[in-house]
Amino acid sequence: MIVGAGVMGCSLAFYLSRSGRRVVVIDRGRIGQGATAACAGGIRAQFSTEINIRMGMEAKRLLARFVEETGQTADFRRVGYLFLLTTDDERARFHEALQVQRSCGLDDVVELEPTEVRAIVPGLETDDLSGATFCPSDGLAGPNEVTYGFANAARRQGAVIHEDTPIEAFLMSGGTVTGVRTAVGEIASPETVICAGPWSAPVGTMLGLQLPIVPSRRQVFVTEPFSGIRRSSPMTIDFHTSFYFHPEGEGVLFGMSDPAVPPGDDTRVDWSFLERITAVAEQRWPPLLEARVKTAWAGLYENTPDFQPLIGPLQAGLWIAGGFSGHGFMMAPVVGKWLAAWIVHGAAPIDLRAFAPDRFAAGVRVEPERNVV
Ligand SMILES: Cc1cc2nc3c(=O)[nH]c(=O)nc-3n(C[C@H](O)[C@H](O)[C@H](O)COP(=O)(O)OP(=O)(O)OC[C@H]3O[C@@H](n4cnc5c(N)ncnc54)[C@H](O)[C@@H]3O)c2cc1C
Repeated sequence: MIVGAGVMGCSLAFYLSRSGRRVVVIDRGRIGQGATAACAGGIRAQFSTEINIRMGMEAKRLLARFVEETGQTADFRRVGYLFLLTTDDERARFHEALQVQRSCGLDDVVELEPTEVRAIVPGLETDDLSGATFCPSDGLAGPNEVTYGFANAARRQGAVIHEDTPIEAFLMSGGTVTGVRTAVGEIASPETVICAGPWSAPVGTMLGLQLPIVPSRRQVFVTEPFSGIRRSSPMTIDFHTSFYFHPEGEGVLFGMSDPAVPPGDDTRVDWSFLERITAVAEQRWPPLLEARVKTAWAGLYENTPDFQPLIGPLQAGLWIAGGFSGHGFMMAPVVGKWLAAWIVHGAAPIDLRAFAPDRFAAGVRVEPERNVV
């Protein structure tokens, strides 16, 4: 059983049902309407830690074969990811990360001089930049397409997805989780996996667990059709400010993190934030000021203290895949596949124990992911 029908739960349902497991997914809302619905769609392997680089590379391979795997398109476009770096420290850190990326086989990632990036994104202000990195095989995919692709294919393989069905409690036998209780009855299962995204901690609380996964609001703005951006333009991230943008339909999607936002699950749009992003855009990519904003939404990041996820067993009969700290969409295809292998065969293709859910309580330090936006 899987609690949560976001992109993570649907990916896991697909790979578990493909392995012949009987799968039930339960969501208190609708498929893909949690954090996944707010996602900007970015797919990259440009991380700082080896395990995330390898997962990003595998995710790109899986998305490139998504139609063959699921029968539906992922709308995966390799437009690239361009990181703009301001300080010497940022340049040095990204240089170091690039060496790790190359050693993992990510051979198309390059370092660029500030003067070179205008050829990739016309209109960028580059005078204060210290450098940039660009990986053309990174890109964008459709959150809706990927989530429903997995969900529909999982259903064809026999998985059952219950929407509008919140779980009320876990069923226990001795110290083992044996299923869940919902408003429409009890569902027994030898294995339950929490894939509840930003709501993982409250779900864990039902068992007295204190999961270190903290939700916080991120806002996204989308413009009317805008001729100032090319359809092939990359996801462009001004790492110092976290201002980012990419083509979205005929317009531009842009956002920025707001350190002033307190942790919590408030997803109301704060339109006054637009003024602060505009001030940053004016310094970095002034053409954006000519575009008209048509809509905005807010969703929840689900951060852990080291910006690395919690993946693995929590207690007998209970697993988790959560806390993806802004990368859960791109990680979902590979986490679903590898976690399914772990559950069914007893081992994942790559050792995922670095993401042990109990590492904080056990005082085990994992190398934090530094390329977090
Ligand atoms: C603005 C924004 C931009 C982002 N951009 C990117 C990006 O470019 N690339 C990227 O990789 N990631 C990005 N992310 C992160 C990404 O969206 C998430 O990491 C990912 O969608 C998490 O998927 P999930 O399935 O784990 O969680 P969710 O999609 O949140 O799914 C969890 C599900 O659990 C259900 N649930 C919760 N509690 C219960 C309960 N008690 N009973 C039953 N069901 C329950 C919810 O209804 C929900 O449907 C972004 C996030 C935001 C907010």
